Amino acid sequence: MDLGLKGRRAIVCAASKGLGKACAVSLARAGVELVINARTADALERTASEIRREHGVKVTAVACDITTPDGQKQVLAALPDPDILVNNAGGPPPGDFKDWTRDDWMKAVVANMLTPIELIKATIDPMIARRFGRVVNITSAAVKAPIDILGLSNGARTGLHGFCAGLARKVVKHNVTINAVLPGPFDTDRLRSTLKFEAQKSGRSEEDVAKARMALNPSGRFGQPAEFGDACAFLCSAQAGYITGHNLLMDGGGYPGTF
Ligand code: NAP
Repeated sequence: MDLGLKGRRAIVCAASKGLGKACAVSLARAGVELVINARTADALERTASEIRREHGVKVTAVACDITTPDGQKQVLAALPDPDILVNNAGGPPPGDFKDWTRDDWMKAVVANMLTPIELIKATIDPMIARRFGRVVNITSAAVKAPIDILGLSNGARTGLHGFCAGLARKVVKHNVTINAVLPGPFDTDRLRSTLKFEAQKSGRSEEDVAKARMALNPSGRFGQPAEFGDACAFLCSAQAGYITGHNLLMDGGGYPGTF
């Protein structure tokens, strides 16, 4: 399917690996020029080179922390008026809410709610003027069904969803859409590090812990980042202009409800 995106330009945040990288790759395959970001410069540059080599599109790498005003400024300087904005950043740490300080909450809210909102604010007017804009927020299945130890994520990300649900209805008449993709367990470094932690804690092998986690999911497996990237690219496509304010849960059927 031709996504009608050839020559469009995108900012993909937190994209040197994992889900952000997968979104960048799927957009590049559709002919989109990219500005990608992550904090670690060499890993980011490796990803940028790989995408240029494999997909022949222009890729600009901006190494910075996207959750800081300076990081956002650097990314926006590289591409002030993107057609597509994919918001992403690392998730907050697990823990118990009784231990969290105001500072812990502020960090989670800044990274997983305010940063995407600030980037949307900075880029939406040119999208409206051009009558084409696609915003995709990478959030978490924890928004739909809270995960006990991820209270910071449950809370901060849900705030982003609430805000975007309102804005999405205001801008869709200009062919600007705002959607979210909510990952369940996807096979990325982040997931692997939680498996490793669990294995060390329980004295089991990482493989056993992974098998047990996969068995808990109706699909019997973890999601593959490429599946996530392609769903994101579809939401950014020319054909997806009538899909907005939507929260696409990709969790292999893990959420147990009918709706
Ligand atoms: P990952 O494989 O660890 O990749 C994270 C990427 O984000 C890396 O490129 C990392 O590079 C970059 N990054 C992290 N913090 C950043 C920051 N402040 N500024 C710029 N770049 C930053 O993680 P992932 O699995 O793709 O997860 C992506 C998002 O989805 C996270 O918010 C995660 O909580 C959420 N999520 C993932 C899953 C899953 O199963 N994978 C499930 C639910 C939710 P640097 O470290 O070099 O900056």
